[in-house]
Amino acid sequence: MSNLIIPRNLLKELVSHCRRELPREACGLLAGKGRRVTMVMPMPNVASDPKNHYVVEGVAQQHAFRIMEEKGLDFVGVYHSHPRGAAVPSLTDIRQSIGNDVIHVIVSLRWKEAVIKAYRLFRDSDRYLRVNIDVTGSKGASRFRTSGTRNLRAFRAGDTLDADQWRDWRVWTSGGSY
Ligand SMILES: [Zn+2]
Repeated sequence: MSNLIIPRNLLKELVSHCRRELPREACGLLAGKGRRVTMVMPMPNVASDPKNHYVVEGVAQQHAFRIMEEKGLDFVGVYHSHPRGAAVPSLTDIRQSIGNDVIHVIVSLRWKEAVIKAYRLFRDSDRYLRVNIDVTGSKGASRFRTSGTRNLRAFRAGDTLDADQWRDWRVWTSGGSY
């Protein structure tokens, strides 16, 4: 199977989102073409115990899939963070996956440097497989700060939201009401 391909600036944004949510787990969706990520979509974590689990908020998730459809993008996968754990799927991660054989990126923030790994999770059989990540783009290209901002600038690499979508998105991802 092919690798997961993600531009460096999007990967930095993904990790930045995970850091902003600390000590809570962060979660979000990845959209693009096949296994090439072109859009990182941060989602609200509505788990009752968000320091140890994540549950993607349902309305935001539905809206994200609608945006993908409108833009002709594929659903590529899911990401979430492990604030203190290793970048390895838990049994809960596997069993509560959005579907069977779905790509999950897991970001461990246990150490100073984030550790990012990708897997295919097989909900139907409690198994996972590692997937290699190809990071594209030059090291100096990122315009994202890696911490200290609440401004979500998650939409890059040519995919932009219209004004209404963007406003909605800001409300969702800032944890406001719907
Ligand atoms: Zn997990």
